[in-house]
Amino acid sequence: MLCRRPDAHGTSRALMLAITLALGVVVSSTQAWSTQAWPQVPSPVCSAKGITLCVLPDETAPVVEIVLRIPAGAADDPADAAGAAHLLEHLLLLHAPDLAPVAEHGNAFVSAVATPYVATTSAREALDVVDALLAVFRTPAFTAEALARERTAILRERETRRASPQSRIAARIGATLLGGSPLGRDPIGTREDVEALRLEDAIAFHAAHYRADEAVLVVGGDVRPEVLQARVAEVLGTAEARPKPPLSLEPVPPAAERVAIVSADPAIGAPERILAALVRFPDDAAGSAAVGLLLDYLTSDLPGAPRPTLEAQEDALLRAVGFGASRLAPGWTAFEIRLAARPGVPADALDRLEAVVRARLAEIAREGLDREILVRLSQRAVSRARAAQARPVGTSVALAEWTAAGRDLASWETRPETAAAVAPAEIAAIARALATAHRLVAADLLPETTRQPETRREP
Ligand SMILES: [Zn+2]
Repeated sequence: MLCRRPDAHGTSRALMLAITLALGVVVSSTQAWSTQAWPQVPSPVCSAKGITLCVLPDETAPVVEIVLRIPAGAADDPADAAGAAHLLEHLLLLHAPDLAPVAEHGNAFVSAVATPYVATTSAREALDVVDALLAVFRTPAFTAEALARERTAILRERETRRASPQSRIAARIGATLLGGSPLGRDPIGTREDVEALRLEDAIAFHAAHYRADEAVLVVGGDVRPEVLQARVAEVLGTAEARPKPPLSLEPVPPAAERVAIVSADPAIGAPERILAALVRFPDDAAGSAAVGLLLDYLTSDLPGAPRPTLEAQEDALLRAVGFGASRLAPGWTAFEIRLAARPGVPADALDRLEAVVRARLAEIAREGLDREILVRLSQRAVSRARAAQARPVGTSVALAEWTAAGRDLASWETRPETAAAVAPAEIAAIARALATAHRLVAADLLPETTRQPETRREP
């Protein structure tokens, strides 16, 4: 999982990334757009010699952001070496002589499917940091002392995560939603897993999975693509590179009933409910757009929207509502709907909040989305996506994921004139898919005073 700066990553970052990805291709078609003035945004310049390299040149950017995405994570851990991907990432970032300077500029983290190394630096130092990152492909050597130190750091990281009720519940939701799929694996593993890891496990993981031709390097900021291409060719050669295909998710059997997780915790001030669903959904640009627009609509505060917003209906109960979606694997999307009541509100208010959300989804599933509302949502989403892309920093991680997934880079830049139409019926289809999700998990986080029996044990 996250490494040097525990505050820099975690659920919120994962969610933000998910939203970025969902909005990355928000598209629509309307005549009105031809009169809009869109901000100029950098377009990625990509090449595939030695490594898949995408550069987002922007001479006005104050810093350069560099992301090296290794397409291997906890899902690739051997059965007898759970946590090997995570241990390797710690050792490389902090104890590999060539790579350790990157730790001054950045961070790295391990998900089920990837290990991105992220660095922010000046234009002057960008090539040095790229050099240091590319050293990740050399066969590393570590000391027993480094292993001991990082094992302790990882155990501490594990305890920090377990101290957060949100983190604990997120791990349980993930494990329940994804069943036995490797995509649901915890990168850290159990205490026993961490204690059993040896240097050989990290080295073997490196040998098996750290391949430049399968990796993706994204650099955004005041840099010239040809300079970076030349440097990459010098270090890695010019053999053809292609990103590793994404891991496929074995279809999980549909749950006969809703899976409930209840957790009472003194750290929770007011009741929260998280509804998580796994949905089979087309993985194309129109599908992504429909997901982004549906999530946007569910929290819409558009003036003149024909339906009252959630906040207006249930304001007395509601503290916050959040929606997120992330592509887990080709054809599969995970949704998360988070409902949080105000302090002092009884836990059964969550049932009423959920009913409002469900009614809204059912309505959209039946009727689609009003065409005019859809157009306005789309305009706002494209504006937002463009503003985000105009700042290369913070965009690079999403672009690395996008590139690794083998998507069409032309659609990375959201252009209204090339945007395909999202029809109300497509929004209705995703709402229907959510309503008949393959697996639905409802997790309640309650203040300790409203303790209810645990329905599942902590893993
Ligand atoms: Zn870590």
